[in-house]
Amino acid sequence: MRYREGGRLDTSHVQDRRRGGGLGGGRGLAVGGGGLGLVGVLVVVLFQVLGGGGSSAALGALAGLAEGETADNSALEQSCDETGDANDSVECAVVADIDSIQDYWSQALGAQYVPTDTIYFSGQVSTGCGGATSGSGPFYCPADQKVYIDLSFFDTLRSQFGAAGGAFPNAYVLAHEYGHHVQNLLGTNRQVDPRESGAASGSVRLELQADCYAGTWAHHAETVPDASGAPLIEEITQDDVDRALDTAGRIGDDFIQENLGGGTVDQDTFTHGSSEQRQRWFLTGYETGDPAQCDTFATDDLG
Ligand SMILES: [Zn+2]
Repeated sequence: MRYREGGRLDTSHVQDRRRGGGLGGGRGLAVGGGGLGLVGVLVVVLFQVLGGGGSSAALGALAGLAEGETADNSALEQSCDETGDANDSVECAVVADIDSIQDYWSQALGAQYVPTDTIYFSGQVSTGCGGATSGSGPFYCPADQKVYIDLSFFDTLRSQFGAAGGAFPNAYVLAHEYGHHVQNLLGTNRQVDPRESGAASGSVRLELQADCYAGTWAHHAETVPDASGAPLIEEITQDDVDRALDTAGRIGDDFIQENLGGGTVDQDTFTHGSSEQRQRWFLTGYETGDPAQCDTFATDDLG
């Protein structure tokens, strides 16, 4: 995958709340302080696997720490002013991903789609859903309708999950989170009890639908125009798709439980779906390009 050279990159949908700028020092996964209702690519699972619980205590401890943080986009605007910068830097690539994803949903949903910002943070952050740490992985907070990401997560995916990585699988992670934003705008998430778990639970259906929505964006990514009228993304190859499927497979509940948790797979605690299911639903979206095919709530066959 390549980003188009020569256009202007719009950083207005990113709020840079990292301290000291830059990517920070690759913190590994720690027990995340998940907040109420956060939906991430893997947040709830990690929380359970790594012995989380008592999230309210974590919330309390973090609530004061992160207060007063403000966004400062000046460095980001300088380093990511052209679309081609996305080919050289992860922080610029994610800016381009966010623009492409939201261009797609604005086209697909029309006025129903309301664009929203992604917060870049390092280490910890306060959100409308409470405090959170990098250990939660990227997530969407329905209460303030923002996506949150510590970009060091992409390093973690490679170093701890063994993912192949790359620009396209990174974009898939962002597109998954914006899938949660679409669910919030459409009200889909409100029919799900976030505390529920299990292979056929509403939580799993919601997560697999977000994977499918990520796939529908990917299907259209090379054609959806940005504000200047040209697509931001060019040349999605089979290798890119394979890498996205590799990432999807490494953030499935069974993979995480087997390789990063206690080693035992327990379907009753699934919240995001198995590796195979996550790959299947991303592919469903990618191959059809049709969000209507992502109705994971209407099927008995989740894969
Ligand atoms: Zn999710």
